[in-house]
Amino acid sequence: MDLNIQGKVALVVAASKGLGKAAALALVKEGVNVCIAARELATLNQAADELKGLSPAKVLAVPADVTVQHDLERLASTVRQELGPVDILVNNAGGPRPGLFAEMSDDDWQRAFNLNFMSAARLTRMVLPGMRERRWGRIINITSISVKQPLPNLILSNAVRTALVSMAKTLAGQVAEFGITVNNVCPGYTLTDRVRAIAVNTATQNGTTSDQVIAEMEASIPMRRLGKPEELGALITFLASEQAAYITGTTIQCDGGYYAGLM
Ligand code: NAP
Repeated sequence: MDLNIQGKVALVVAASKGLGKAAALALVKEGVNVCIAARELATLNQAADELKGLSPAKVLAVPADVTVQHDLERLASTVRQELGPVDILVNNAGGPRPGLFAEMSDDDWQRAFNLNFMSAARLTRMVLPGMRERRWGRIINITSISVKQPLPNLILSNAVRTALVSMAKTLAGQVAEFGITVNNVCPGYTLTDRVRAIAVNTATQNGTTSDQVIAEMEASIPMRRLGKPEELGALITFLASEQAAYITGTTIQCDGGYYAGLM
């Protein structure tokens, strides 16, 4: 299927590794000109080199921390200058720290809000006026299955990400008439560096092996395997497509059936 987005411009943040990189990769393969951002320059440049060979699309890498307002302003203006106005925004970030309610200070809450909510709100605010003018836009937030099924020990992530989902749903209604869609995707356990690191930490704490920890994750998923980053990348790219023009305000899981609820 031709997704009809060749030549569009996408900004994908937190995209030097894992889910963000998989989204960028799938978009580049569709001929979308893509800017990726992350903090660590060497990994970011390495990811950009991988993307560049995939299609004639342009690839730009801009180091930026999504929690820093000035970085986001510089990022948005660099993409505009180098690639043009952003048509497709994929919001993403690292995850906030795990732990129980009793362990969280005001600072922890503020940091999590800044990381997983404000980063998306700020970037959306920066690209939205151009999308409205051109009457075309796609905003896709990478959240987590925890917005549908809160995960124990991840109280910051559970709480802050649902705020983002609620904002996206409200915004979707406000911008639909301008041809702009706003959607959330919810990965379940997906095999990225982050999940590999969590498995190693859990194994150390529990006196087991990371393979055992991953096997336990797999056993909790109806498909009995972890997701592949490219499976989420494919969903994001479809939501970015012309064919997905009538899909907005949704929150779609990609989790091998892990979520046990109805909607
Ligand atoms: P990952 O493999 O660790 O990749 C994270 C990416 O985000 C890296 O490119 C990292 O680069 C970048 N990043 C982190 N903090 C950043 C910041 N402040 N500013 C800019 N870039 C930043 O993680 P992942 O598994 O892809 O997870 C991505 C998001 O999805 C996280 O929020 C995670 O909680 C969520 N999620 C993941 C899963 C899963 O199973 N993988 C499931 C549900 C939800 P730098 O460190 O160089 O900045």
